[in-house]
Order: sequence, then C-alpha cells, then structure tokens
Amino acid sequence: MFLTALKDLLGAQHVLAGSDADPYLVDWRGRYTGRALAVARPADARQVAQVVALCARHGVPIVPQGGNTGLCGGGIPDASGAALVLSLRRLDRIREIDTANDTITVEAGCVLQAVQDAARQAGRLFPLSLAAEGSCTVGGNLATNAGGTQVLRYGNTRELALGLEVVTPQGELWQGLRGLRKDNTGYCLRDLYIGSEGTLGVITAATFRLYPLPVAQSTALLALPGLDEAVQVLAHARAGFAAALTGFELMAADVLAQVSACFPEQRLPFSGAPAQSPWFALLEVSDSESQAHARDRFEAVLGGVIEAGLAADVVIAQSVEQSRALWHLRESIPLAEARTGKSIKHDVSLPASRIADFVKTTNALLQQRYPGVRNVVFGHLGDGNLHYNVARAPGQDEAALLALQPEVYRLVHDSVHAHGGSISAEHGVGQLKRDELPRYKDPVELDLMRRIKLALDPQGIMNPGKVLAPAAGRPAAVAP
Ligand code: FAD
Repeated sequence: MFLTALKDLLGAQHVLAGSDADPYLVDWRGRYTGRALAVARPADARQVAQVVALCARHGVPIVPQGGNTGLCGGGIPDASGAALVLSLRRLDRIREIDTANDTITVEAGCVLQAVQDAARQAGRLFPLSLAAEGSCTVGGNLATNAGGTQVLRYGNTRELALGLEVVTPQGELWQGLRGLRKDNTGYCLRDLYIGSEGTLGVITAATFRLYPLPVAQSTALLALPGLDEAVQVLAHARAGFAAALTGFELMAADVLAQVSACFPEQRLPFSGAPAQSPWFALLEVSDSESQAHARDRFEAVLGGVIEAGLAADVVIAQSVEQSRALWHLRESIPLAEARTGKSIKHDVSLPASRIADFVKTTNALLQQRYPGVRNVVFGHLGDGNLHYNVARAPGQDEAALLALQPEVYRLVHDSVHAHGGSISAEHGVGQLKRDELPRYKDPVELDLMRRIKLALDPQGIMNPGKVLAPAAGRPAAVAP
C-alpha cells in the first residue's frame, strides 16, 4: 500500500528497487551496505514534502541521500530493509543568482561543481571546494557541514549558507531562503539543520554567499624538516598573507609516495635532500591585484621562511598548469588511499599549537601497541584538521587491521580528546562515530541534542540510528 501510494506520487520509474537500487545502498568506501524498501527520487521540494508526509503517515524511516560520497555511512540505511532512501539528486536547479546581493540560490541535489561553475559564469566565486566536488551535492555538504580546502579563508559550509528551505519530518515545507547577512529574529533554525546529517529534516534548497573571483592565485609546495616547523610556517603565512591565504595543506612524505606509486605521472617537484623531507605543505594565496603581485608577495614571505630555517626548499608554481598539478597531488591522496586498501580513518581537529605533540605521541602509542602499522597523515593544517589514518603493517591482511578498529579508535580519539581536539572535524558522525560521542561530548550537550531530536522528530523517522542512538522505548516503525 505504501509503495503503491509512493509510485502514484512520483511515477513508478522514480521508485527504484532491486538492482536499480543497489548503488544507493553501499557507501563510497564500501564499508556500509544496507537494505531499503525502495529508493524514491522526487523531482522538486513539493514532491519531497509529499513523500515525507506519506512516510510519516506510514511510520516509514527516511534516509536522505545526495551524492553518496559521505565518509561516515550517514546516507546508507540499516540492514532491516524498513527504510526508504530519499535521493535528492533530481532537485538540481540553480534557482537564482543575485549578483547585486552576491548570493546564489540552488536546489539540494545540485552537484557542488555545478554550483561553482554557475557562480564563475556570473563572475563570482563559490569557494566551497573538496575532492568529491564532481559527485557530492550541496544538500549533502550542508547536512554534513562539509569543510574542504578553502575553510581557512571562507569558512566551512555553515559560514557560506545564508538561508535554507527544509521539509520537516511531518512533511511541512519551511521556506527560509533568506539572502540576509543580518537576521536576528529568534532561534537560528538554519544552523540547527546544517550538520544534522538528515536526522532533523530534508534540506531541499539553500541560498549561499558568493565572493569576488580572485584576480590571481599563486600556489607553492614547501619541503619541511618537521611538524613543529610546519606549524611555525603556518603562523608566518597567516601573518604575512593575512586574508589572502586561502589554502594550507599538510602532507606526510609517505602519503605522497603512495600517490606517486598509484599514479606514476604524479611526482614531487623536488630533488636531492628536500625530496627526502618528512613533511610537505601546499600553500595557496589569492590576490585581488595581479599574478605578479601574488608571486612577489609569495617570494617575500616564503623567502623569510627559508631564511628562518623552517623549510628545506620551496617550489612556486609558474603557471596555472603547474598550480593544478600541485593541487592534483593533494587531491589524489584519498583516491590513492582507496586503491591501496582499506585503512582505519580519523578525521580530527586540534588546536594548531598541539598538533605536533598529538602526532608524535599518538604515532608512538600506535607503534608500541601495533608494531609496523603505517600512519597516513595529511589534512587541512590551516584549520587544525588532520586526516590521521592507520594503514596495515607489511604482511598484515586487511581484515586483521579492520578488526582492530574499535581499539585503534579508542587510542586515537582518547589522544585527540587529551589534546583538546574533536573526533570529527568535517566528515560528521553518521553511523561510524555515533557510539563514540557519549565518551567525548559533554553529557549536557548530548542530552540537549537528544531533546532537540525528540522535539522536531517525535516519531523518530528521520535517518534513525545516525548521529544519536535511537531513543529507548520508541515504537518500532509501522510495517508498510
Ligand atoms: P551523502 O553522502 O549523500 O550524505 C551525507 C549525509 O548527509 C547523510 O547523513 C545524508 O543522510 C545527509 N544528506 C544528504 N543530502 C541531504 C539533504 N538534502 N537533506 C538532509 N540530509 C541530507 N568532506 C569534507 O568535509 N571535506 C573534504 O575535504 C572531503 N573530501 C572528500 C574526498 C573524497 C574523495 C570523498 C569521497 C569524500 C570527501 N568528503 C569530504 C566527504 C563528502 O564528500 C562530504 O561529506 C559531502 O559533503 C557529502 O555530500 P553528499 O551529497 O555525497 O552526501
């Protein structure tokens, strides 16, 4: 009966089952596989509201999904087969670009790259940028409060969003697409939905800030003798470039070696001793004057860094192609990791001042407990965000490593907590880190989160089991 009503609403071709549904039931990393009643593909916000209202009437759990690039299993249903996967990908219209207000209003299923392109065609910059930008959707970016490579200058998705349109768990449409920089009219519901990973409602559209396109950009790769030096270079770069510093990425040498092994055309542009450095940093400066001005500024600040003995060598890109090649090295890390086999991943943030100590202490603890495991460390150092991954020791099989995941999590996350950090910097919680939250979150904070969830979604149908464990005693979903 539920499925018949759903097909009547959307048309049978937009209600997928069997092998057509399979790609929606496994995550990008192949870690989570679920089952679902069906995959619904509504065309617009009105249809989303109708589908959600139907689910509410039948007590059917809803798992919203955008590009399915999330790294915490948030968009994958559980194994019960009771939930409906709600794919937002057909909501892919750019609704408005207002260049006088520097805003863009887009639907949730727009692929991030399409929004960047639309903004560029209007002579503006939409600065959200991450390696999954060709597949992830802005709805998923909002739901996970995605970060990426430009957070240092422009903030994460939360800072870019001005207004939202949301379907509540009861199927009402909240029209909050305001393009205002100032709006102090009560609780900020927008910020509640951002980062809620589909547990409070379905985002159907958003209004984002746009920025002027930089006149010029300059990119450099630095070879660094150690992590302490990397953090000092960050401080120099912040002081020297101020708001013009738009990227500061850190990469361990063995991580880049893995990229070159997987993609032989990609190589480090250093030779001799600097090529043997243990760490590398990728810096980007965006300039509002000219390419020559950007390069002069780069040379002045980075010259000071070399003189201070903080870097062994620096390569400054001399063309757009060279700059792209340097960024390509960084962006290929997740792909090289995926090709090399599964690892235990940690997406953590720390105060910059404690990063070097965190890495040294945690590496040593891991080697003591699991001799030979490889630390795969890279990340957005400018935001204090490290991807601190643990890969198998030579000869160790993948399953043996993955069996250690709960213990390794405990060791690494305890260390993050002890260093004043967060166990999820930008990827969210999903199902991956749900059971870790109670150990590290303030109990009052966690209780407030549970009360918000209960107030907005008393039936518990929005993405159950993600971020928060389902409330005890809640009635099971009604069989459709
Ligand atoms: P999905 O994976 O489909 O969903 C993610 C979560 O959002 C789920 O909980 C889902 O239920 C919910 N959701 C999706 N759409 C909606 C909606 N419209 N309304 C309500 N809830 C919704 N992330 C970063 O932050 N920074 C990075 O640098 C980064 N790099 C990445 C690199 C690679 C190669 C890959 C594969 C992923 C990377 N990610 C990164 C993670 C991922 O791309 C982001 O989390 C992205 O924001 C997810 O978007 P999506 O459309 O794929 O969402």
